Amino acid sequence: MSRAKRIALDWIDGHRSRLVELCDRVWGLAELGLVEYESSRLLADELERWGFRVSRGVAGMPTAFTAEWGKGHPVIGIMGEYDALPGLSQKPVPHREPLVEGAPGHGCGHNIHGTSGLAGAIATKTAMEETGIRGTIRFYGCPAEESASGKVFMVRAGLFDDVDACLSHHPSAVNTARLSSSNAVNSVKFHFYGRSSHAAGSPEQGRSALDAVELMNIGVNYMREHIIEKARIHYIIEAGGGQPNVVPDYARSWYLIRAPEREQVEELYKRILDISRGAELMTETRCKVEFIKGVSNKIPNRTLSEIITANMREIGFPEYTDEELRFAERIAETIPPEAKREELRKSGRPGWEELMGVLIDRTIPDPWGEGEVSQGSTDVADVSWQAPTMEFSTTAYVLGTPGHSWQVVAQSGMGIGHKSMIFAAKAMASSALDLLERRDLLERALEEFRARLGGRKYRSPIPTDARPPLELWRH
Ligand SMILES: [Zn+2]
Repeated sequence: MSRAKRIALDWIDGHRSRLVELCDRVWGLAELGLVEYESSRLLADELERWGFRVSRGVAGMPTAFTAEWGKGHPVIGIMGEYDALPGLSQKPVPHREPLVEGAPGHGCGHNIHGTSGLAGAIATKTAMEETGIRGTIRFYGCPAEESASGKVFMVRAGLFDDVDACLSHHPSAVNTARLSSSNAVNSVKFHFYGRSSHAAGSPEQGRSALDAVELMNIGVNYMREHIIEKARIHYIIEAGGGQPNVVPDYARSWYLIRAPEREQVEELYKRILDISRGAELMTETRCKVEFIKGVSNKIPNRTLSEIITANMREIGFPEYTDEELRFAERIAETIPPEAKREELRKSGRPGWEELMGVLIDRTIPDPWGEGEVSQGSTDVADVSWQAPTMEFSTTAYVLGTPGHSWQVVAQSGMGIGHKSMIFAAKAMASSALDLLERRDLLERALEEFRARLGGRKYRSPIPTDARPPLELWRH
């Protein structure tokens, strides 16, 4: 282990209680996307205290910020998220018990995400300062991963233009830097406007906006036979009229359109827009399209994955206390074996069948997933088109824990989550230092990045006039 890494790891161990406190405070705040005012301030203030130059309210979002230290290249980025999910409030106990009924909770563990990144950045800076390593370490405070995909706006604002490589950490049930990609997506609302009338007395006067929504859905459902197998299209009807004896003059649907490649989403989206026009024509209504968000597919990077895996193995995953293991056992009792089997199967991890009897996984397996596409989407993907990027995960949950669940909230707010955060911070700092100290590794990551893009140019998935939806929660 290099001297710089040793300094970084010592810094993390020496500041463990403060880091756990930050992690718990963000957990307790549990603020939704784009309104993470307190959480983002807490993290930005901490970075500022450690000598980082902080820019707040970047890319048109009050809760987005950057914090950097050092100067010149290489510029190593570390991303941190801190948004919570609605309705998942939960005490740090192994049974369902909300902290505040109906309030948000950290159902994706982003309190760990933000803190592990912050800790990794400060530890890296400390090592750079003490050993004279040159370059820049930059923390990206990234809001609203779950809702508005804040990073897409940050990319569009040029905040990643000069970055040489970017690292990110996400808590999960396994220690890995997976090589799979993720689906590109468009999220779009279709507002139809018709004309109301008495549905029995004068239906000939009315033009039903709900008819338009239904016919559009039928059109899309027929289109399904003639699209690529890997695409995913799902919708809801958000507004469908007031009561049956009034012809609805307004109706609204909300679509998500996913596919493994950004250009496939563009193509499907174009066809869906045509179908919405068809629905307008059939019903003599008018349609207004509201683009909510778009993200790209993720470009993985094996070089970064190998660097992170090697560092995780060198550091070693910590032991759990008996109390933590008892907590884990009680959480495991709330997860049916079939559900656990399905989670493991979906992970695609080689040998997953042998993990059914494992409670919580401290091992660090070889990275897997090359050539596979996970069905979900993430705005980390848009950063991965700017520079070599890798989001790795560390074990924070018992095996089989479903995503976006009260079990995630509970485990993110106690010892098991804290250990995941500290371990991730160490892996983050060690990997950032590898990239700063070893130009050969950074060069290899860059070469791989260029090869994977194969000359493809990044195009922002959001329209040029799209603004961050700052009013998202105000209705
Ligand atoms: Zn997440």
